[in-house]
Amino acid sequence: MSELKQSRPKGTQDFVPPDSERRRQAEAAFRRLAETYGYREIITPTFEHTTVFVKSSGETSDIVTKEMYTFKDRAGRDLTLRPEGTPGVVRAVLENRVRMPCRLFYVGPCFRYSRPQKGRYREFGQLGIEALGEAGPLTDAEIIFLGSTFFASLGIRDCTTQVNSIGCRECRPSHRDALRRFLLDRKEQLCDDCQLRIERNPLRVFDCKVETCRQAVRDAPTPRQYLCPACKTHFEQVLADLNRRGLRYELNDRLVRGLDYYCRTTFEYVSAALGAQDSLGGGGRYDYLLEEFGGPDTPAIGFALGLDRALLAAPVAPVPERRNLAFVVWLTDAEIGAAEKLADRLRADGIPAQVDYDARKVKGQFKTADAARAACCIIIGPDELIKGVYSLKDLATGEQREVSADVVTAEVRKLFAEQG
Ligand SMILES: [Zn+2]
Ligand SMILES: [Zn+2]
Repeated sequence: MSELKQSRPKGTQDFVPPDSERRRQAEAAFRRLAETYGYREIITPTFEHTTVFVKSSGETSDIVTKEMYTFKDRAGRDLTLRPEGTPGVVRAVLENRVRMPCRLFYVGPCFRYSRPQKGRYREFGQLGIEALGEAGPLTDAEIIFLGSTFFASLGIRDCTTQVNSIGCRECRPSHRDALRRFLLDRKEQLCDDCQLRIERNPLRVFDCKVETCRQAVRDAPTPRQYLCPACKTHFEQVLADLNRRGLRYELNDRLVRGLDYYCRTTFEYVSAALGAQDSLGGGGRYDYLLEEFGGPDTPAIGFALGLDRALLAAPVAPVPERRNLAFVVWLTDAEIGAAEKLADRLRADGIPAQVDYDARKVKGQFKTADAARAACCIIIGPDELIKGVYSLKDLATGEQREVSADVVTAEVRKLFAEQG
């Protein structure tokens, strides 16, 4: 083979079968699960006006300052490929005047210009849900439970759920002041980014991966120490319900999430299967975001799960030897019409069927059937055409037998079932 002239951009992925199918199956499992909790799908554009993300994620967040794919279109509009799902959903819900409360889920790619590493890509799959107009702590607990149920359904056994509360408009200022004072005393130990964060958004220092910063904030005042009575009660009820549901969780004081819009409950799913880069996704409450978009005062909570990381952590089921595909083989040109007709009939009955129109010889057609990993071949020759029968060959066992035209569909189904 000559040298390839094109390759995919850094940080992107190709999904060839069966990886593409595994990905679709996981998405389908998420859709089904979300629907059983009353969520319905929302589909929003892959790009939005840049302001949608700057306004919501926060001008000082890493996503906005460093990771967005922002571009001008040919008319000079400032647009951004979505780095996350929530802002677009909130924008769409308000723009379309969707009735509240409403439960929505989404499935689709997001884009961030970050350093590619294991399970982290510049184009990545996200699975998200948003419960808009629900204020109570039981919704928080149910959503946390839903995400954990999804990972369990993928067979991820070592998924840990971490939870925290970062307070509300009432109690956050007192924590922020205490944290600011604490950080100012240790300013020399902080990285340049964190020194700027002290004034702009001190909470973000908890997110910093730099070791000296992590050391510096070890004994820092935590948001939970400053919760107002209402936030305290809310969080206690979330935990009580997680206990009632039998969901094991860990409290994590550092869990502040990298986005400005969160309040009260925050949570994250981590897996040891992924090594140091261990987050599978997470979410939290964002009771003020709709208001900031010019909408009504609406409490809300949601999560976003990383599809790529989930699939990396999930055990890979062995690919079946044979696919549920019937290959219709013709012996001479005179049977092509009949082969085509039979394939169409099988398809109409819901059985995937294929015909090789190019191979002039039976041997070539069988080769194609094998490359496609077909489960069986249905052979039509001059004799079969006269007798009104087909020869059905099981490609797993090599066994071949005659079946009459009126039972061929049932026989193929039976063969698929036998091959499992
Ligand atoms: Zn509060
Ligand atoms: Zn830092």
